[in-house]
Amino acid sequence: MDIQYKSTRGGGSSITASQAILKGLADDGGLFVPDRIPALDVKLEALSGLTYKETAYEVMKLFLSDFTKDELMYCIEGAYDDKFDTEDIAPLVKKDGAFYLELFHGKTIAFKDMALSILPYLMTTSAKKNGVKKEIVILTATSGDTGKAALAGFADVPGTSIIVFYPKNGVSPIQERQMVTQKGKNTHVVGIKGNFDDAQTGVKNMFHSKELAKEMDGAGYQFSSANSINIGRLVPQIVYYVYAYGQLLKQKEIACGEKINVVVPTGNFGNILAAYYAKNMGLPIETLFCASNENKVLYDFFQTGTYNRKRPFVLTCSPSMDILISSNLERLIYRITGDDAAKTKELMEALAGSGEYEITEDMRGRLSDFASGFATEEETHAAIRRLYDRTGYVMDTHTAVASHVYETEAKKTGVKTLLASTASPYKFARSVMESMGQECDSATDFDLVDRLAGLSGVKVPQAIEEIRSAGIIHDTVCDKTEMEQTVRSILGLD
Ligand SMILES: *Cc1c(COP(=O)(O)O)cnc(C)c1O
Repeated sequence: MDIQYKSTRGGGSSITASQAILKGLADDGGLFVPDRIPALDVKLEALSGLTYKETAYEVMKLFLSDFTKDELMYCIEGAYDDKFDTEDIAPLVKKDGAFYLELFHGKTIAFKDMALSILPYLMTTSAKKNGVKKEIVILTATSGDTGKAALAGFADVPGTSIIVFYPKNGVSPIQERQMVTQKGKNTHVVGIKGNFDDAQTGVKNMFHSKELAKEMDGAGYQFSSANSINIGRLVPQIVYYVYAYGQLLKQKEIACGEKINVVVPTGNFGNILAAYYAKNMGLPIETLFCASNENKVLYDFFQTGTYNRKRPFVLTCSPSMDILISSNLERLIYRITGDDAAKTKELMEALAGSGEYEITEDMRGRLSDFASGFATEEETHAAIRRLYDRTGYVMDTHTAVASHVYETEAKKTGVKTLLASTASPYKFARSVMESMGQECDSATDFDLVDRLAGLSGVKVPQAIEEIRSAGIIHDTVCDKTEMEQTVRSILGLD
């Protein structure tokens, strides 16, 4: 039977996967969740023989059950092609006893490409299936990596336009350059004077505004989201965990059915939630380690059962994890209430109101799949240096947070462990070079990129070469209170 999607907060009726992809966020402010998690219907031992695309089909057909085989294959073939610099799409490398799943071989060298290279296909296919004639306006808040990956995915896709908001002083110089040089006549990039949470809240408010929706409708537009609140982002992220398990089998690193740990550097809780869904589908995963940077709101949540966003916001060297309101946690909360939408709504309203909520003992009891850890800035730098000294392998600052949590927590379990390696070190060249004790003060970011190539022996990716000399196209900056006004003027609504 078809999987239906409903809001975590109980409002509205159940809708199909394609409708949920088009809407992005439910009308009541909740997130769409599948009415059940389907079980994998390929045998585990068969996974080792599947390519990335074949694995993608096996996973996605279960969640996106109103898509035909032809529609899904069209999306998968279009997404996972030579935009990726390796046929493996997500290579698995063994370093110092752990398995790093490199999720940064796409167009913008961060793991967001894994889902954002397919989302435009899913979105336009969904529009066609549902007879949508209006232009889809993708509205996105980014902590740095989603923005570029979404821009690259949606640039010049007919029937769509995309507006990205990023914290003006909260992303790395290379991240910013990647965004402001984006080509495509349907792309818009806006820096805001505020942090990522401000950007995300502003975007959510626009989604909720009935008045804005009405005006948009009149002008022939409708909003959707490329953030990980869209199930069209979440489902493609499940794929690489299933694929990685197949690769571990293929490389004879594990026996069939053997459980593995997964460590995920976490911000908005999308990536680790995908791993949790994979576990619920029957993938043999022992423990999911949620790794935080100094914005350790999730670590504290797992330790104490209280989620409390009232704390200073820290700018770290892993900016894509500088988040205090982890949107996708709502989907986990919904699961651990036993799919109780009223309870979920109550907790989320408490978070929006007083800034915190506490879960019940029952709910805490359902969190046993998870463990948590965090890395300070110093520990993050030390992790990069440690792995480099031991193996010559250079990882990025986000992966380093996971690597630290592996060293201090996961390793002692004795269970083989997979780490989600979420960005290329080139994207954060300055922080990475500093970690390795290199003198950086007088160097430009591109000097550091070249020196990093010398140290790591890894060729500078195309994504970096492209922005060396590219001209700046987008220079709009607005206050965090002016986001809606900015959208109106971009769309010509006034
Ligand atoms: C987005 C991002 C993360 C955090 O992923 P979530 O799904 O938001 O938890 C970690 N690392 C990098 C490099 C990212 O771009």
